[in-house]
Amino acid sequence: MRKIYIAGNWKMNKGLQETKNFLETVIPELNKLKLENVIPLIAPAYPFLEEALKGSYGSCMQVSAQDVSVHSEGAYTGEVSAGMLASLGLKYCIVGHSERRQYHNETDATVNAKILKLFENHITPLVCIGETLQQREEGKTENVILSQLSGCLKNIKLLSGEEIILAYEPVWAIGTGKTATPSQAQEVHNLIRNWLKSNYSDKVAEKLSLLYGGSIKPGNLQELLDCEDIDGGLIGGASLKEEDFLEMVQIGR
Ligand code: 13P
Repeated sequence: MRKIYIAGNWKMNKGLQETKNFLETVIPELNKLKLENVIPLIAPAYPFLEEALKGSYGSCMQVSAQDVSVHSEGAYTGEVSAGMLASLGLKYCIVGHSERRQYHNETDATVNAKILKLFENHITPLVCIGETLQQREEGKTENVILSQLSGCLKNIKLLSGEEIILAYEPVWAIGTGKTATPSQAQEVHNLIRNWLKSNYSDKVAEKLSLLYGGSIKPGNLQELLDCEDIDGGLIGGASLKEEDFLEMVQIGR
């Protein structure tokens, strides 16, 4: 059985007090749920990671960074290294989000370098891929996804499949209110799963959690999770509200 992640990517939202408030509301409720296969996760901005780790301590809530540097240390103003994240006790980090690709010119090669740094520091990368609207309309979705997979995972060894998480986030569905239909999402997830089988192993493909992201909310999560190859959600806007986040964790159970 694969792990189901209900992962909130907070992007550039919530300051210190809002982070504390969220955890004070959500953690006691999560503790009542006795979750087995569902992993709730939040990705606050860098300055609040430590507070989020403290506030989640002893609960099932996992904390992730939203990005990491390709460098290990040195004169890189504004960058944060994987070693620094590991020194906080952080276990997860998102890489390759389409907003990083779009606004910060990140390529598959950048993502690949970041994954390597995270592995060196025993942090699980949550790697985002997905096509733009134009690419979908031109019928290029499959090619784009396969080339992102081979670029991001170049020379990356996977043994169990649990050391990395992938998220399919069609760019046209992010923050637009347009969710991919379950069958559109499942089609791409199945393509990814088959690629993993051919390029790694059946075991890796079976164990690796493959999340969907793009305008998920409590009202559409269930139908997405019902798809065979969708193992959770990477959720932006709807993860910011305590009650919506908790409802989505319940749906994932
Ligand atoms: P929304 O859920 O706000 O569409 O954002 C999705 C996303 O980008 C998660 O990483």
